[in-house]
Amino acid sequence: MLEFDDRIAVAVSGGKDSTSLLHILAKIEHNYPKASLVAVTVDEGIRGYRDEALRIATENCKKLDIQHHVISFKELYGYTLDDIVKRLKEEDKSGVTPCAYCGVLRRKALNIAAREVKANKLATAHTLDDETQTIFLNLLHGDTSRITREKPITDEVHPKLVQRIKPFCEIPEKETALYAYIRKMRFQDLPCPYASEALRNDIRLFLNRMEQKHAGIKFTIFKSMEKITLATEKIGGKEEITECAKCGEPTTGEICKTCEMLQQLKMLY
Ligand code: SF4
Ligand code: ZN
Repeated sequence: MLEFDDRIAVAVSGGKDSTSLLHILAKIEHNYPKASLVAVTVDEGIRGYRDEALRIATENCKKLDIQHHVISFKELYGYTLDDIVKRLKEEDKSGVTPCAYCGVLRRKALNIAAREVKANKLATAHTLDDETQTIFLNLLHGDTSRITREKPITDEVHPKLVQRIKPFCEIPEKETALYAYIRKMRFQDLPCPYASEALRNDIRLFLNRMEQKHAGIKFTIFKSMEKITLATEKIGGKEEITECAKCGEPTTGEICKTCEMLQQLKMLY
């Protein structure tokens, strides 16, 4: 995943997984004088939640002497997630969860932030648990194209897309948490007030039950999907990436998912 001279942007939310990742990468990077590390945090604008996480992220960066770059939904899109949730209620889009918007908007924000700090790698703290849950979530949503796009190392397909890596993709969440506790790190433990992905929670419970009964099953699922992704790429090829007609950011459609979502809510910046 990493080269000796990478400039790595680490996506740090302030939670235990990303805090562990930051500490571990800082430790590794220390031995590579030509590599550099910078933390990036997306401030979605969730009152009473993200503000505390941001403070914790800043604190950890100071402790490790790592540059910290913050990018916000407000400055990028003109609205906070709180504004978007309010509009969702007004438009009566009760079937769409705040997470659906937040995930898409944050993905784009992280890529922009990584570019701003001139990183050539963007490391996120997705664990084995996140990865296997996402496989099932995409399957159950019928989102087949996304299943094969979620890879531990993305392809370098567009100059505006910073290559994403997931160093924890084979590490169970229990272990990243344990590391954070053992090293006595400070992280945010508070759940997001919008956390509402009922289906993901059901999948989490199911996978945890399966893992308890059949140790190693999450790892098997992850590895199976890796093989399926490779095979699908050989048959179907890869999607072509162009630039969004509205914002110029990389996309597979005419306009990117962020612009599409904000347009639907009549909130396009
Ligand atoms: Fe965003 Fe949902 Fe995560 Fe909250 S739980 S930060 S709304 S993705
Ligand atoms: Zn766009």
